[in-house]
Amino acid sequence: MKTVTEILAQPRLNREMRLQNAMITMYCKQHHVYQGKVCRECERLQQMTARKLAFCESGIEKPTCVTCTAVCYTPVVSKQVRTISRWGRLRIWFRHPILMSLYCFDSLKPSQMPKPKLLNL
Ligand SMILES: [Zn+2]
Repeated sequence: MKTVTEILAQPRLNREMRLQNAMITMYCKQHHVYQGKVCRECERLQQMTARKLAFCESGIEKPTCVTCTAVCYTPVVSKQVRTISRWGRLRIWFRHPILMSLYCFDSLKPSQMPKPKLLNL
């Protein structure tokens, strides 16, 4: 089995990971106690998002997380990630314009995952 680092060496996933980490770092600098590195909570979040990215059920051919239909996060983490991306989605353009442009380009690829089935109760 490949490690997270090996999987995230794949260029597309690597770009997404760098973008995730950059956004969490920016958020931490503004909202938490940033001492040369992100706070412990954000560090944990970065590790978790990297792991989820690597082991997403859509596989390494997964679309970007924005368009992916797999449910990777628990509701609590999902809310945390949404808060950070809502805060950072415009700001990130000023810090990482090239990475963000590539991310938008990557997001054009449609999801290969089937839509989640509704339960027929
Ligand atoms: Zn933080």
